[in-house]
Amino acid sequence: MDPKHPKSIGDHELRPESLMMSYGYRPEWSEGAVKPPIFQTSTFVFRSAEEGKDFFALAYGLREKHPGEKLGLIYSRLNNPGLEILEDRLTLWDEAEACAAFESGMAAISTTVFTFVRPGETIVFSEPIYGGTEHLFHSLLPEFGIRTVCFNAADGVEGLEAVLEREGCADSVRMIYLETPANPTNALVDIEACSDVARRLSTDERRVLVAVDNTFLGPLWQHPLKLGADLVLYSLTKFVGGHSDVIAGAALGREDLIAAIKGTRTFFGSMAGPWTSWLLLRSLETLKLRMTSQMKNARYVADYLADHPKVERVYYLGHLTESDPGFEIYRKQCLSPGSMISFEVAGGEAEAFRLLNALQMVKLAVSLGGTESLAEHPATMTHSDVPPESQARMGITPALVRLSIGVEHPEDIIADLEQALAQV
Ligand SMILES: *Cc1c(COP(=O)(O)O)cnc(C)c1O
Repeated sequence: MDPKHPKSIGDHELRPESLMMSYGYRPEWSEGAVKPPIFQTSTFVFRSAEEGKDFFALAYGLREKHPGEKLGLIYSRLNNPGLEILEDRLTLWDEAEACAAFESGMAAISTTVFTFVRPGETIVFSEPIYGGTEHLFHSLLPEFGIRTVCFNAADGVEGLEAVLEREGCADSVRMIYLETPANPTNALVDIEACSDVARRLSTDERRVLVAVDNTFLGPLWQHPLKLGADLVLYSLTKFVGGHSDVIAGAALGREDLIAAIKGTRTFFGSMAGPWTSWLLLRSLETLKLRMTSQMKNARYVADYLADHPKVERVYYLGHLTESDPGFEIYRKQCLSPGSMISFEVAGGEAEAFRLLNALQMVKLAVSLGGTESLAEHPATMTHSDVPPESQARMGITPALVRLSIGVEHPEDIIADLEQALAQV
């Protein structure tokens, strides 16, 4: 433990929510300012030429790091105090060794993939998956000679095994990439079981990495590293940013993996800037409050929808029962059902649109995880790229509406849904 950053009071260990206001920063570094200032600077002055030489030697891998040593400040594409504090704080929730923060979730995902996967190698991924990731995997990576194959999240680890067999790609897999719960149907993939498959496929020359996009439940309600994953990825734009006012991302995992990702990040230039880092530090202080409130609200809304005569079906993790295939996975890997709900209205696209157009407080917008409740239509919006037959296979029907529940009073959210459903 770095003595400058106490994580405990005596033997009493402090929880992440208590450390979000202090960890990684000391007021005496900045004139006693209780909050870290925004270091809006592109470059940093060296104390001497010798110091500059030493910092570069470490940055370019010309010498080994001393134990606990941090890279000296050189230039804000490599490092910045706000970025460092942000990364230190983000490690606490997932109990990760290290973190790299980015200017978007897609920057985190693409920089991570290009760090580890090479032409001739394969990525196996679960579907449905975030639309940007889908495009990267299906359209862009194949142009670089990287093979990408997918399995349906609802088929679980059996689906993963089956696609490896069918595609004959077990010898070339470099990364198993999961998104769980899957968007928008909340289908769960067993992270631990997929990590076991990765260990089995790994050889001395080629370690198969498991990367999990944890945007939907993390960093509070699901901790993939503890379940055997190698890397956790985030769109910090969603719950962590939480106010729908910033785009950012992160990758977390073992020190050596994150060091490799930061190496690529330096040359892709995809790091989070000083303003983004500062906004996220501010957001992190209320992360637990917001996610807890959103989680509680979602329970009321999901229960309300499940009882409504004009609602055919509700996808909500808190409604899983022992007969559901996802139930055991949920119990093993999720700490709460989170605040994402999808539901089918009676009818089709016309009825779903009537509902969406009638909402008065809940905003009609994509994205999720913010303080305000949002509603959208996956089939024609977030998942409109997905071919209709794949949409049908994944349960993305024309009647499906996705909700991201915010921090409003739950009765107000329900009142809005009530009047909108009345117009269907
Ligand atoms: C939004 C999102 C992303 C992409 O993140 P950006 O910050 O928009 O680049 C990736 N994965 C998931 C699950 C998302 O919801």
